[in-house]
Amino acid sequence: MDFLQPDTWQEALARKAERPGAVPIAGGTDVMVEINFDRRRPEALLDLTRIPELTGWERDEHGIRLGANVTYTRVIEELGADLPGLAMASRTVGSPQIRNRGTIAGNVGAASPAGDAHPILLASNASVEAESVRGTRLIPAAEFYLGVKRHALEPDELIRAVLVPVYRGPQQFSKIGTRNAMVIAVCSFGLALDVTARRVGTGIGSAAPTPRRALAAEDFAAQALPWDSRDPIPEGVAAQFGELVSQAASPIDDVRGGAAYRRHALAVLARRNLSWAWKEYQCA
Ligand SMILES: Cc1cc2nc3c(=O)[nH]c(=O)nc-3n(C[C@H](O)[C@H](O)[C@H](O)COP(=O)(O)OP(=O)(O)OC[C@H]3O[C@@H](n4cnc5c(N)ncnc54)[C@H](O)[C@@H]3O)c2cc1C
Repeated sequence: MDFLQPDTWQEALARKAERPGAVPIAGGTDVMVEINFDRRRPEALLDLTRIPELTGWERDEHGIRLGANVTYTRVIEELGADLPGLAMASRTVGSPQIRNRGTIAGNVGAASPAGDAHPILLASNASVEAESVRGTRLIPAAEFYLGVKRHALEPDELIRAVLVPVYRGPQQFSKIGTRNAMVIAVCSFGLALDVTARRVGTGIGSAAPTPRRALAAEDFAAQALPWDSRDPIPEGVAAQFGELVSQAASPIDDVRGGAAYRRHALAVLARRNLSWAWKEYQCA
């Protein structure tokens, strides 16, 4: 297996164009597991860890542009105020070691339906900045996940950054697992309220072949919430929201949980997340 170690972003793009089969590696917390268990034997690894352009994040009027190598730990320590939902999701990932190595872009690149960053990226209308020697394009998160561990990147493309809008409004992320840490989600749910646009964003994890939004639930809640008065959520609205989220999922029975359990749990997570977020909005 060849080990390619570009020092610059341009060199990385050139290497990927020459060797589309080369597998990018950032934190390596997914890639090395696959190689060690012999699930994957790529012709080459493309090490992205030396590229300075990927390590930072920046803010503009739209939101935060997270360089591809930004880790969970940095999101937790540096971006909790701007991206509260992504920081919450990051706190649930693995262990401190995994959070120190693992990156948001690596989670996106792995495209596992159970990845913890996806629900809140969907709920926040995030986009993936993909680049190749042919140019740059933005792929909305809702169009990025194509199937189980399949995504919309072309073979010569790399993730340069993940763009996450910053909204005025509370966010939540909840995950069900069989224990409190180091656990793959049985199912998960992310919520982002945009109180300026009166939008409710959702993201479902680990309950369909891809992470996905619950569009009917978003529309229902956006209409039903008393944005102006900030009154308590009207009777039945949170429960109906939970039901609509549950209906948007298409879970399977597997070793981590049953389909019926996942549907039930999602309805509970969605109901609670909406109630918590709304309380925070009422107190703001
Ligand atoms: C013990 C353990 C616990 C874990 N716990 C969790 C958990 O709780 N929740 C969770 O969601 N995940 C968990 N994971 C999985 C993993 O840590 C995350 O998915 C992490 O975000 C991967 O990031 P990375 O930088 O290590 O990616 P890597 O392993 O380097 O790469 C992951 C994938 O993304 C691709 N990739 C990376 N960077 C780029 C780029 N710039 N452009 C294009 N493709 C790219 C790689 O080719 C690969 O396909 C765990 C893993 C381990 C080993």
